[in-house]
Amino acid sequence: MSVDILDGRETASKIRARLRAARESLGDRPVNLYSIEVGENPAAEVYLRNQKRAARDVGIELIERRLPATADTGAILEVVHALNEDPDATGIIVQRPLPLGVEARDVQGAIDPHKDVEGMTPMNMGSVLYREPRLAPCTASAAIYMIQRSGVDFEGAEAVVVGHSEIVGKPIAMFLLHRLSTVTVCHIGTRNLKHHTRRADILVVAVGKPKLVTGDMIKPGAVVIDIGINSTKDGLVGDVDYASALEVAGAITPVPGGVGPITVAMLMRNTLRATGLEI
Ligand code: NAD
Repeated sequence: MSVDILDGRETASKIRARLRAARESLGDRPVNLYSIEVGENPAAEVYLRNQKRAARDVGIELIERRLPATADTGAILEVVHALNEDPDATGIIVQRPLPLGVEARDVQGAIDPHKDVEGMTPMNMGSVLYREPRLAPCTASAAIYMIQRSGVDFEGAEAVVVGHSEIVGKPIAMFLLHRLSTVTVCHIGTRNLKHHTRRADILVVAVGKPKLVTGDMIKPGAVVIDIGINSTKDGLVGDVDYASALEVAGAITPVPGGVGPITVAMLMRNTLRATGLEI
């Protein structure tokens, strides 16, 4: 069986080309994405670098507001509130990880929902229940984008999501429900994970454990979306054992170069949407 490798880099570059054209339609109007960073973290720097590159490509200005690692919740909230009021700020992103003692939810929850380009405020998260909000969580949008790209029919498909975090697993499950897939959500409390994953026409894995899902846990021909990013001695790997999955899957996202670049493209799309553009 030939497997369709869902190349995120190539797809993201096509998305960015469309976004660039949309951004050009705004003319001289500034589009500014403000990035709040607290302290320094090597993994976050990689993600930030990718965001900067994508922003430059699309024609969005990414402006950094870096706070010292000692900044507490109050100090970070001060910056968020100022940017909420600043008409120059189109979108706001708070880079993670945050220092110990600072809850991401408290900080992200304070962002003006219309500038919340990560789709993390209670308003945008809550809207996920009703429909896809204009500013939807980026990784969930990216996963759906890649499933769509595979050509699989959502309606009636058995979809299994492994991982139930607020930022990834739960919104993906909702987006699949909106498209009338039959959705099972697995998590740390799930007994016999393989029993569920084996039934999946669409399998989304977002856990953060290298090679948790192996080829024998995948239904032949399934669409496999690997969201995990794990740094190992062999470099970056996903949650799916890529080699054995390739033997059975119908379509699969590699790691790196799968969902990651699409997530960044969705962040840029949300930033343009925050200007009011219909895109
Ligand atoms: P999280 O730690 O918040 O959630 C992990 C989830 O996995 C939980 O629902 C937990 O119950 C479940 N889980 C843990 N062990 C399990 C097991 N043995 N069997 C079944 N379920 C299990 O993680 P997260 O923030 O959702 O991130 C998940 C992964 O996705 C991480 O590797 C993260 O780096 C990656 N990620 C990638 C992107 C991207 O753009 N590609 C974006 C966000 C997160």
